[in-house]
Amino acid sequence: CGIIGYIGAGNETLSVLMGGLNNLEYRGYDSAGIAVGGSSLSVVKRSGEIEALEAALNGHSIAGSLGIGHTRWSTHGPPTNANAHPHTSESGAVAVVHNGIIENYEALKQELQAEGVTFQSDTDTEVVPHLIERERTRGADPETAFRRAVAQLEGSYALAAVIAGTDAVFAVRNDSPLVLGIGQDGYFLGSDVPAFLEYTDQVVYLDDGEMVTLTQSQYSVTDLDGTPVDTTVETVDWDI
Ligand code: GLU
Repeated sequence: CGIIGYIGAGNETLSVLMGGLNNLEYRGYDSAGIAVGGSSLSVVKRSGEIEALEAALNGHSIAGSLGIGHTRWSTHGPPTNANAHPHTSESGAVAVVHNGIIENYEALKQELQAEGVTFQSDTDTEVVPHLIERERTRGADPETAFRRAVAQLEGSYALAAVIAGTDAVFAVRNDSPLVLGIGQDGYFLGSDVPAFLEYTDQVVYLDDGEMVTLTQSQYSVTDLDGTPVDTTVETVDWDI
């Protein structure tokens, strides 16, 4: 339902993610969660209100220079803690949030289970972190692993992923909105501009089939073959 992503200097990650989730509340949701990275990923997620996620965080701050967050509106699997996003790979090194529906998830899930992968949720989304991890295990670098995993998906998606030990946030869209925000000290992702509008009004609206890689110092937008795409930075003229 709602996506927020962030990479930047300083220690704002958790507050950007939680602020983004609160800004996306108006879309409706049944669960909420975040992943913050680093050399390892911290994932916290709860069914119910954002207050339940805040209670689970219990005032603890999670340090990290990047992260992703999600408000879920269930399509596959009931609103439980396990079905809340982010979803993670078996090693815990990959975390993914997703809006939309992966139409071919059952075939992918059977294939992964036949290879011995254990699933933790009933969602269509969970195939994605496992696919990324499989590509990593096969030797792909993080960006290539993300791209190759996405190439196996059919359906509608805005996806954002983080990988432990990788100082980047990866995202892609197909039939589901995704916006890149360009801030002074960092980059943002949102399913909708209000997610990060208090930090920047400089945005790039992504098109279907476009993938973005955010690092501390730059953003790049490519198609799924890795060919760079020309982008236009627009100024959002909205009051908040
Ligand atoms: N299909 C996914 C799920 O049921 C994502 C739903 C959404 O867009 O929030 O978990």
